[in-house]
Amino acid sequence: MSDLKTSDPKVAEILEAEMKRQAEGIELIPSENYVSQAVLEANGSIFTNKYSEGYPGKRYYGGQENTDRVENLAIERAKELFGAEHANVQPYSGSPANTAIYFALLEFGDTVMGLKLDHGGHITHGLPIAFSGKAYNFVQYEVDKETGALDYDEIEKLAVEHKPKMIVAGFTAYPRDIDWKRFKEIADKVGAISFADISHTAGLIAGKALESPVPYFDIIMTTTHKTLRGPRGAIILCKEKYAKAINRAVFPGLQGGPHEHIIAAKAVAFGEALKPEFQEYAAQVITNARHLAEKLTEHGFELVSGGTDTHLILVDLTNKNVPGKQAQVALDKVGITLNKNTVPFDQRSPFDPSGIRLGTPAVTTRGMKEPEMEKIAGWIKEVIDNIEDEDTLTRIKKEVEEMCAGFPVPGIKV
Ligand SMILES: *Cc1c(COP(=O)(O)O)cnc(C)c1O
Repeated sequence: MSDLKTSDPKVAEILEAEMKRQAEGIELIPSENYVSQAVLEANGSIFTNKYSEGYPGKRYYGGQENTDRVENLAIERAKELFGAEHANVQPYSGSPANTAIYFALLEFGDTVMGLKLDHGGHITHGLPIAFSGKAYNFVQYEVDKETGALDYDEIEKLAVEHKPKMIVAGFTAYPRDIDWKRFKEIADKVGAISFADISHTAGLIAGKALESPVPYFDIIMTTTHKTLRGPRGAIILCKEKYAKAINRAVFPGLQGGPHEHIIAAKAVAFGEALKPEFQEYAAQVITNARHLAEKLTEHGFELVSGGTDTHLILVDLTNKNVPGKQAQVALDKVGITLNKNTVPFDQRSPFDPSGIRLGTPAVTTRGMKEPEMEKIAGWIKEVIDNIEDEDTLTRIKKEVEEMCAGFPVPGIKV
């Protein structure tokens, strides 16, 4: 950052503070990760200077010999990684990608099914105040009250009753594996388009640690910055018969010029995910999450659905008498970052819900394994049990920093 330090010391100082924060703390937000130095370099590259509206071979501006090459490389790698027939690598992020999918395949007012936000769905899956909820007639399904897991018979019943044109499967705060085949059967039974939003688990699917919806589903969307460990962005995969509609909806339907520097970084991340080491990473993410879940349970925490099959854990803090927001703030003080979250059938407000959501993608990237998960579970318990004891929090912050010093973050030299 030598140029930045001279030309804009204010921004340089903020970036250095953020590097320190990322290196010294334990990142447990399940949608976050650390990208490699190589992804950072492509992400910060001179493709940021280039306009390339259109698609490779069919652009509206000149000078596209390199953008075409990099975008085609990203497309080919995405198809290979997921075994998909078609890939669009231009979506700016997950939310615009989902909007493009709806715009491509639905008419305004059409009926769609998606999981309710406070049961683990995403805002783009029909939250009433969001664009998706206003533009389309979303019928929202829930998780089962007893098990905290999806009840496929119930989803089928709703689908038969409402005859949706599309069913959205794939979630943002759901700790269990998904029966893609069963979902597809339900969609087929009512003639609905099947759409899997694998934003959270794409890296685990690419790393062959979880089953893939790609063989079954019509449309798949994933963000590239979560378990997939790439730049902030998204891709859409689909069967060939939807390719034209999807491409048209992304550009010119919804977006203008693609961000080719991000697409270059996506290509790098897909290249990394195609390597055998990435499969080890994906398996370790789940091993770590299971271990952390087990230790938290031993410490008296109640986990929604009783545990996890993925990278993600949802804790209901009701029995600890500590609201999610207070827990998030106290854990932040010791350098453990996670987020407050609603739990299914939450009695509290979304701004101060009953739960916290955590996950292992980022700590696993740093090389942390089961012994570190045990320490983290212990610190979380101590913080929750001593939430107003500043001396305890100060001591734990030091212990967290000491452990983190042994696990460097890719791309950060401190
Ligand atoms: C993260 C996420 C998105 C949205 O991604 P953004 O890049 O934040 O817009 C969409 N769907 C699901 C299931 C997600 O987890």
